Amino acid sequence: MSVALRRKPRLFTLHIRCDNCLRESARRLEVAPVDDAPSDVDELVESGLIGTLRFNCICAGLVGQIIGISQERDYGL
Ligand SMILES: [Zn+2]
Repeated sequence: MSVALRRKPRLFTLHIRCDNCLRESARRLEVAPVDDAPSDVDELVESGLIGTLRFNCICAGLVGQIIGISQERDYGL
């Protein structure tokens, strides 16, 4: 008998402010449940994953400041 211990993707929301027009936007970030995937906000920051994201504002600004990160509840809970 196997125990169903399926790991679910983690869902984070990044709150980003455009450096150009100061417009704030939120962006969903889904992290696949692979080994050593970040499981909370602290681990997400330490993982450096955020630095790989491209930011594109509607004003054509390309530089965004992350002003907050929140973690969504796991799927199905
Ligand atoms: Zn902008």
